[in-house]
Amino acid sequence: KLYNQVQDLKGNIRVYCRVRPFLNGQPNFASTVDHIEEGNIVITIPSKYGKESRRSFSFNKVFGPAATQAAVFEDTQALIRSVLDGYNVCIFAYGQTGSGKTYTMSGPNELTEEGLGVNYRALGDLFVLANQRKDTISYDINVQMLEIYNEQVRDLLVADGEIRNSSQNGINVPEANLVPVSSTSDVINLMNLGHKNRAVSSTAMNDRSSRSHSCLTVHVQGRNLTSGTILRGSMHLVDLAGSERVDKSEVTGDRLKEAQHINKSLSALGDVIASLAQKSTHVPYRNSKLTQLLQDSLGGQAKTLMFVHISPEPDALGETISTLKFAERVA
Ligand code: ADP
Ligand code: MG
Repeated sequence: KLYNQVQDLKGNIRVYCRVRPFLNGQPNFASTVDHIEEGNIVITIPSKYGKESRRSFSFNKVFGPAATQAAVFEDTQALIRSVLDGYNVCIFAYGQTGSGKTYTMSGPNELTEEGLGVNYRALGDLFVLANQRKDTISYDINVQMLEIYNEQVRDLLVADGEIRNSSQNGINVPEANLVPVSSTSDVINLMNLGHKNRAVSSTAMNDRSSRSHSCLTVHVQGRNLTSGTILRGSMHLVDLAGSERVDKSEVTGDRLKEAQHINKSLSALGDVIASLAQKSTHVPYRNSKLTQLLQDSLGGQAKTLMFVHISPEPDALGETISTLKFAERVA
């Protein structure tokens, strides 16, 4: 309900900021976050960058380091309902490597019940809600898992990952595996398979996962049991590549190419969301694989939620500011 009220005022785009806690035993006093107040986050810019100052950024919501996975998911529930009502929804995790994107979307490495991230909770809710409606609407739910690396789309649900090349408008997605699911455990199994396939390809390159976008897509088709009417909705859950800029003087070859691809696709995403937020008539979807892939789910009636993540450490300050500026532009 809250989501719909806010949406009337602000359109279909929401931006939440999440601050990761300090990790194992690091000192808390050093945080670059001065304080958080409702939708505002205030960052301290220390004196070594001139006179000490504060900079404030505003979002729909800011989650501090103590926020639980359940609290972070809570406001997302209205979106899940709209998927079953036939809307397209995109949920993004943005931020530098190590800021908590995967934690928000999937959870910690050692998964516990409380640790479950947005992906699991969203799918869990989807099944619960679909089941509640089963006397009026019969739902088919299918899942895809894709990775975009160096502007190439790979299917994570098959071992070789190749996507057969019968592209429509240059988009290969329809050829990717679409797997029917009927329970959360089906989804967990598929996600594990996807993670395994992703890991296999990355042995040659150290932690490729932080340099590719991974996208879990849920397609929902509902048939009204009395009228026969069909409705279709989808949800894209996207763990984006790390947003950190690399120093061009320090990397070359493949690493530089990767960085350029990431930079290009994240700024293309920023441009698309910013132009949607400004209700501009031209939306530049074609500038990256990511925005092409998500074109039908960004803009129009579709709903977008962006979680932007920041690390609290002083040495992350530069990336923190640039992440918050990116987010401010799309909010
Ligand atoms: P990213 O995906 O952005 O590279 P991760 O999600 O892998 O970052 O997070 C980096 C580390 O910080 C991981 O060890 C993760 O478990 C931990 N972490 C991230 N966010 C939180 C959080 N909100 N609470 C506790 N630990 C977190
Ligand atoms: Mg990650």
